[in-house]
Amino acid sequence: MTSGRIHGHVLSPRSGGGLRWEPDSALSWSDGLLLDAAGAGELALSEAGLLLVPGLIDAHVHMPQYRVRGRFQDALLPWLREHIWPEEARFSDRPYREAVAAEFRDGMLAAGTTAALVWGSPHDESAHAVLNDLAPVCVRGGDVLMDRNSPPELTRSTEDGLRSAAEHTSQYGARYALTPRFVPTCTTELLRGLGRIAAGSDVLVQTHLAENLDEVAWVAQLHPDARSYLDVYDQAGLLGPRTVLAHCIHLDEVDLQRLADTRTWIAHCPTSNVALGSGRMPLERVLAAGVRVALGTDVGAGPELSMLDVMACFLDMQAAVPGVRPTLALELATLAGAQAMGEGARRGTLESGRAADLVALRLPGGLRRGETPDEVLARVLDAFAGRWEDAVAAVFIGGQRVT
Ligand SMILES: [Zn+2]
Repeated sequence: MTSGRIHGHVLSPRSGGGLRWEPDSALSWSDGLLLDAAGAGELALSEAGLLLVPGLIDAHVHMPQYRVRGRFQDALLPWLREHIWPEEARFSDRPYREAVAAEFRDGMLAAGTTAALVWGSPHDESAHAVLNDLAPVCVRGGDVLMDRNSPPELTRSTEDGLRSAAEHTSQYGARYALTPRFVPTCTTELLRGLGRIAAGSDVLVQTHLAENLDEVAWVAQLHPDARSYLDVYDQAGLLGPRTVLAHCIHLDEVDLQRLADTRTWIAHCPTSNVALGSGRMPLERVLAAGVRVALGTDVGAGPELSMLDVMACFLDMQAAVPGVRPTLALELATLAGAQAMGEGARRGTLESGRAADLVALRLPGGLRRGETPDEVLARVLDAFAGRWEDAVAAVFIGGQRVT
């Protein structure tokens, strides 16, 4: 059913700023797009008293880590070597890859995630799995590139990596994301080659930056001439409004200003940062510098695919930062994610003309008299902590019910 109607309490960021908050209202759609006014389309769901929010958007998630999510005994570098790289190596096997892709897609849909910026494995064909096997979730992403300091089965030569990145760029265009894992596993030659591809196309770029102090020290050792870790990406031409950098915990003011000037995005992944003991991203400094932020699960370091889990952790971790409140968490998990992945004009809010991507959340006991949107959201997050899928009554993508 690509036309339909659903009743509930409508809560959404607006693309021009502010909130849409309409208790006891309805949303209607036709041909998969939201309509201006509540129409008479067929009722898509009869459950009453639901909180209707935009489809949740995960700005940073690793598909091949899905089965090993939550194994976080170690810090970043040993965790990568012991848990993550052996699992990613299994993705050269097509049946294994396809089985995990199906589980991963179903997990996202159950969590209310309708769009995501997804990382594949370090195999050429993994780009096709990410971009073809996860429908109906709206996905952008690509295969991981590593050409040094990596196990042989996950290492591609610089030439092979650049050739396959160029092929995927011409095949998928703006849906594809150049995905160098991080500076320690990517030569300057590879990064600069990717910078040239990015400059000549409309692909996205996604990578990691400054998650952990050992990693930052390793980069300083590998690149003694660079001003900072960020500077290595900058010199390679990899910053800009179509670039999304995960973590960004250990940055100085010059780095933050450079991110703001280039309109580069940060994917803030609080549940992952807690799991790996990476520290707190300094949100107050990031916002003061004017850097744009979206939220991500970073599964498998993050233990859950639920963006509700990430929102709750964000509110807890960043509670002391002025302006942090539940509706800001919702905005970062919807509209900001859509903008970061280049879908800001089509998704991320419940406004007419946008894709009818929405999540109907259960609100225990219904709406209370005079309750504010922040209070309503806080109550949902509190009531379903640790059993996030129970919060999700239904999920629609382009007006089609998928959960
Ligand atoms: Zn990651």
